[in-house]
Amino acid sequence: MGSIELKGVEKWFGDAQVIKGIDLEITDGEFVIFVGPSGCGKSTLLRMIGGLEEISRGSLIIDGRDATSEPPSKRGLTMVFQSYALYPHMSVRDNMGFSLKTAGAPKAEIEAKVNEAARVLKLHDYLDRRPKDLSGGQRQRVAIGRSIVRDPTAFLFDEPLSNLDAALRVEMRYEIAKLHQTLDSTMIYVTHDQVEAMTLADRIVVLEAGRIAQVGTPRELYERPANLFVAQFIGSPA
Ligand code: ADP
Ligand code: MG
Repeated sequence: MGSIELKGVEKWFGDAQVIKGIDLEITDGEFVIFVGPSGCGKSTLLRMIGGLEEISRGSLIIDGRDATSEPPSKRGLTMVFQSYALYPHMSVRDNMGFSLKTAGAPKAEIEAKVNEAARVLKLHDYLDRRPKDLSGGQRQRVAIGRSIVRDPTAFLFDEPLSNLDAALRVEMRYEIAKLHQTLDSTMIYVTHDQVEAMTLADRIVVLEAGRIAQVGTPRELYERPANLFVAQFIGSPA
């Protein structure tokens, strides 16, 4: 399970319309990337899917049910924030188990889920450390681990690598690709980095001022950009 459909989705902030009639079907297990220049509406669209921002008009269908007005906790999705959102006073283990603990999960279950996430993310040797004693890449993995333990229907990432230096970004890009292969879950990923989009995505959604300029595989966008905006953004030889 992990299909997500947007139908005529719009977002208004007061009189300003920032998302304009988005129709999009994301199938289970797909890795979909929203790209576009700063301010085009990527985060707003992702936050509406996650339930952190209300949908002004249109609907959101998750696994066939209307989730337009569902509270975030009911959607089964998880937002992966940047690594700075870790709790500094807690160990890696407690950071990863925190949401399960607050949800009242039994200790044994929390331990099993944290161990499994640590295995997938190669964090088992670091479970007792505090975030300050980790590298940037390890911290980012902990942030992802906090989401994995909740067995989400889909992962929502908003520029998860933008705080990392260039070398680490490349390493983490590879880690995220592996993670997608391992978990086989739906991932929606926002970035303004074309290289990230081209290397990670099954399909890329190019946004331009709140509208979809084009949707396609990296290859389709590169070889047949719909317009000059897409061509310039993707870097294809238009
Ligand atoms: P991106 O993530 O692509 O950089 P955003 O989704 O953050 O773009 O923003 C899209 C547009 O919506 C921008 O013009 C931004 O200023 C505006 N916007 C975002 N959040 C709010 C808000 N809470 N109130 C008013 N305008 C907002
Ligand atoms: Mg943004």
